[in-house]
This record gives sequence, C-alpha cells and structure tokens, in this order.
Amino acid sequence: MILLGLTGGIGSGKSTVSLMLSAKGAVIIDADAIVKELQEPGQPLLKELADEFGASILRQDGSLDRLALAEIAFADKDKVAALNKIVHPAVGKEMSRRLEEQRGTGNVVVLDIPLLAENPREGLCGVIVVDIPVDTAVARLMEQRGFSEVDARARIANQASREKRMAIADRVIDNAGSLDELRVQVDEVWTWAVSLPPAAPDAGRQVPRDDNPVAEPAPGT
Ligand code: ADP
Repeated sequence: MILLGLTGGIGSGKSTVSLMLSAKGAVIIDADAIVKELQEPGQPLLKELADEFGASILRQDGSLDRLALAEIAFADKDKVAALNKIVHPAVGKEMSRRLEEQRGTGNVVVLDIPLLAENPREGLCGVIVVDIPVDTAVARLMEQRGFSEVDARARIANQASREKRMAIADRVIDNAGSLDELRVQVDEVWTWAVSLPPAAPDAGRQVPRDDNPVAEPAPGT
C-alpha cells in the first residue's frame, strides 16, 4: 500500500482533487464523509450527540440539524471540547478500520483529512496539499457552495494557515486556475504517487499530542 495524506483549507478544492484521484484508482478514506455517515439516523454517534447537546439538534425526521448543532456546540470552548471528544474518537476508529482493510494491498490509499496539519499522521509516504489564495477560496465558497462572505472567512480563519499546511507538504497542488489546469497537476501527482516506496506496516497512526485544538470545529460539522 502506498499511503498518502491529502489536505487543504475549506474551499481549496480538496474534494475535487479527491474525486480526480479516485477516478485514477486511488482508495479515498475521507474524514468528512465518514463524519456524515456516522451522524446518520440510527448511528450511535447521533444518539450520543443528542444526549450531550439536546434534542433540538435533531430535525423532525430524526436527522442531524448541522446548523443547530454548530450554533450550540461552537458557543464556547467547553462545548467544542465536548463535541470533539464525542466525534473524533468515532471518526478515528472508522478511519483506522478502513485503513486496516487496505494494509497488504498494492493500492494507493489517500487519507483525506481537512485538519491534517493540526492532526498529523505517522509514516505517510507523502502529503499532498491543495493550495489557493484566501480570496479565491472565499469567492468559490460564496458562488458555488452558498456561503456568506462572513461565514466563509470565519471558517477559513478557524483552520491552520496556508503556511502551516505548506510546511507538511511533499507536493503542492495550486488550484487558483481552471479545472483543466487542476487536472494536469493531479496527473503529475499521480505519476509521482505510484512511484513512491510502500508504507511501513504500521503507517497512518495519528501522532499523539496533548494540545487538542479546541478552537477547531470537528470535521463535517
Ligand atoms: P474543499 O473540498 O477544499 O472545501 P471543493 O473541492 O468542494 O473544496 O471546491 C470548492 C468549490 O470550488 C466547489 O464547488 C468546486 O466545484 C469548485 N472548484 C474547485 N476547483 C475549482 C477550479 N479550479 N475552478 C473553479 N471551481 C473550482
């Protein structure tokens, strides 16, 4: 298995790159997608969240009202910490389960983690960072994902800086240009990725640390 990390700030185009890599044959383990799956009705995580933050975070059909949860959970640091304490271990466990399934295969496996710079992983064969100027990210989030400018800037300010992400990059994809220009860079990154030596048997574990970044929203919330 060749194990890669993929990260980028919100609106950088990380999900778009992930899709392009998947089309090339990569196995994507997507932290945000896992959070959403684990928050589906009937999942134990959703019940834990409702027990902690109250039934007002649920819609009438029993699904999670993300906005309601965000409004309650991001009101103060203790609540963010409580949210992270519920969500992070569950996501971590599911990511590990999917990673274990891939060990011993010859696949290129991509850990798609928005907060990889804040939560590093051991033994990755390489890290890909999707980079974009803040103003371009804000414009795309507003035009294509319906964010207000204030929200877009607040979400970006809550994440690691571009510099902090760049510091962990082995390959940087510059997504300030067109989708065609992006595709060319993804092709190059793929050629690089498949030539890498395989990962060590225990690669991909989260680097232990005590400074939980309580100011960061959990992925997917
Ligand atoms: P992220 O996953 O990093 O938050 P997305 O991949 O969702 O970002 O990209 C944000 C938005 O910008 C999406 O609507 C996506 O389709 C669009 N997008 C991504 N790359 C480009 C590009 N090069 N040109 C124009 N739009 C883009």
